[in-house]
Amino acid sequence: MAAAYDAGLYDLDGVLYLGPEPIPHAAASVAAARELGLRPAYVTNNASRRPAVVAAHLTELGIPAEPADVVTSAQAAVRVLRERLPPGALVLVLGAAGLEEEVAEGGFQTTRTAEAEVAAVVQGYDPGTGWAQLAEASVALRAGALWVAGNTDSTFPSPRGPLPGNGAMVAALRTATGLEPVVAGKPEPALHLESVQRVRAQRPLVIGDRLDTDVLGAVRGGADSLLVLTGVVDVPQLLAAPRGSRPTYVAADLRGLLAAQPAVVDGGCGTATAAYDNGVLRVTGQGADALRAACAVAWAAADEGRPLVEVDGL
Ligand SMILES: [Mg+2]
Repeated sequence: MAAAYDAGLYDLDGVLYLGPEPIPHAAASVAAARELGLRPAYVTNNASRRPAVVAAHLTELGIPAEPADVVTSAQAAVRVLRERLPPGALVLVLGAAGLEEEVAEGGFQTTRTAEAEVAAVVQGYDPGTGWAQLAEASVALRAGALWVAGNTDSTFPSPRGPLPGNGAMVAALRTATGLEPVVAGKPEPALHLESVQRVRAQRPLVIGDRLDTDVLGAVRGGADSLLVLTGVVDVPQLLAAPRGSRPTYVAADLRGLLAAQPAVVDGGCGTATAAYDNGVLRVTGQGADALRAACAVAWAAADEGRPLVEVDGL
């Protein structure tokens, strides 16, 4: 599959690493895919870490990366601010130090409090965000400041399972103010477009672990996508993927980049088969072929209004 595309837009959390830990087979697969012509860009909705820090982390995990190879939602958020505000405008940062640095380097003044001159609130993930910080942002937003969110991911993956993400904190402010943010990260187009430009991709493949950001962003951007099961989404969630958020390809992990991706014909894929029978999805065979067959049949059934109650054999 890697040979069929010129650039891989890799999501990070849940694809290349899980918190500080590398995901098995990721580094070797990225390197092998590169040999086949898939130029990597590392694209993250996380706005808390600067590209240089992310690149150093990837390099440490055996994935050699330069800061210019990393595209963050903080950079996409600054792009949105530049489109809408004059240079030097005052921006209230609700997020980590890395986001504040990115905003300052983008030519804006930054603050942490709701001063009268605040023109925008930019919000990114920060484990230090609490009531006091949300209150400052709330005052500025109610006074008319532009609201830009790095992303609206409700959770992010961790070794302890999904934890509250930036979207959970955005939801708190949305509830408090009744307002809606402009979103810079996936699935909105700003981050995807920045990534495509960065690697000059003609035929990009989006690689991610989430349906509602990575895959939906790819669909909206007109790109093919690979969903790997090493992060947030599990098999039941994948089988229930709504139309418009379904990946082109599925794989257990990034080794799928190095394999052929045969089509599913009449519920059959290689030696695996899947069939829908009165609410039950019956799957024979194992591995990637069985997963592909199961997805194709489950999605077709859902589109015909036939719900999936039970899966037998996957
Ligand atoms: Mg992810």
